[in-house]
Amino acid sequence: MDILHKKILEHGHVLPGNVLKVDSFLNHQIDPELMLAIGKEFATRFKDAGITKVLTLESSGIAPSVMAGLELGVPVVFARKRKSLTLVDNLYTATVYSYTKQTSNDISISKDYIGDNDVVLVIDDFLANGQAALGLATLTEQTGATLAGIGIVIEKGFQSGGQLLKEKGYRVESLAVIDSLENETVTLRTEEVK
Ligand code: 5GP
Repeated sequence: MDILHKKILEHGHVLPGNVLKVDSFLNHQIDPELMLAIGKEFATRFKDAGITKVLTLESSGIAPSVMAGLELGVPVVFARKRKSLTLVDNLYTATVYSYTKQTSNDISISKDYIGDNDVVLVIDDFLANGQAALGLATLTEQTGATLAGIGIVIEKGFQSGGQLLKEKGYRVESLAVIDSLENETVTLRTEEVK
């Protein structure tokens, strides 16, 4: 995806600890045109999968997911990270371990919005060690729905998540893959350019 690659190279900042900061278009300020292009790309890649729901994680997964849902013509459900006054029971819950924060957090969705007839596309902003995506896959499995695949906006290809998810048999579609963040420089995997 040229437009996404360009954004990452022009506006991404490498932080210590192999973290890419993309607050200017994805994680804080959001570029709607880019999100629409991302949504269209996910929709194209999964157009024959019979998707009925998109499932993501709050908050940074929501923008690309809404655009994918719009293009696919299906609702978007976002898993919550925090306990909510309105989301207390009737829940599916999975535990997600964050290597960067070294903490575990529960993520939850209501049982009302995904059921065993659904075909789910999981979307997230980043794929690093794969724990967030695995948590969303676990939630999907709890619902009895079919998991059609996992769409990732930016995969850090030098971390283990992509391989882990593929070894588990999941279809993973990453729109940009970063091969390295060494020397404060973003190296993108160019064969992923579409
Ligand atoms: P994983 O669970 O795959 O290890 O990490 C994925 C989650 O961690 C994403 O949902 C994202 O919020 C966050 N994350 C991991 N690496 C990065 C990064 O380099 N930059 C940003 N902005 N978020 C990241």
